[in-house]
Amino acid sequence: MWRRWVASTVLDGAAVLVLAAPAVCAYLRWPMLALYALVSGAFVMMWRRNPWIYQIASDPLTRIAHGLEHATIAVLEEDRLPVAHGFTHGTNRFMVALEGDHAHRTAEIADAAARAIRRIRAGERALAYHRGCGTSSVVAAATLWLAFATSAFGAVLLGGTAPIFYAISLVAVRMWIAWREPLGLLAQRLYTVSTDFGSAEPVAVRALARVGGWEAPSDETWFEVLVRVEPRASAGGAVAPGVEM
Ligand SMILES: [Zn+2]
Repeated sequence: MWRRWVASTVLDGAAVLVLAAPAVCAYLRWPMLALYALVSGAFVMMWRRNPWIYQIASDPLTRIAHGLEHATIAVLEEDRLPVAHGFTHGTNRFMVALEGDHAHRTAEIADAAARAIRRIRAGERALAYHRGCGTSSVVAAATLWLAFATSAFGAVLLGGTAPIFYAISLVAVRMWIAWREPLGLLAQRLYTVSTDFGSAEPVAVRALARVGGWEAPSDETWFEVLVRVEPRASAGGAVAPGVEM
């Protein structure tokens, strides 16, 4: 939180400075251009590194599995297990990684997935959205790039003077700092996560060294969780407790 406060204060100060002393802008041209190039590069790299977003966004079942991945990770974190990360790599499966050697914990992972499903079905939908999700990183890169691009456009509309461009850019970045986390969660809600299922259950959990073409590093244990999901609410729809290992 203090980092956000420092960044916002520095940006506010810089915005006031460029408006109060336009001569400063002569020194800002190259740093701003370099920053713009960096932001654009990060934006392109982020899209290229996360092609899975298209796949998840286009398939309702994968979006449900993605939400179950987040919720399982949240429950494991509450259980104080050392979660490293996770990803969703199919319509009926996701992966969670623990730091260290935990291959014996398949039953705990299955139990966490079952509890996560029960809590979502009981109305705790927020469990399915995770701040550390790749969707949020991609949206952060996209919105930062947009903030820069629109501030340049806005400056042109306002007369194109350098101080106005710098001031608008700084204000746009300040707004981005305040909004990037809620925007990331909103993007998950709209495009990559769904909690719209009638029933679901984990049907198998296994520790694997390689999942979907990715190899687990030696200091992590990867678990693949297979789930059976009924997308729409149906009569009954209770979470079945039985789990095969
Ligand atoms: Zn995610």
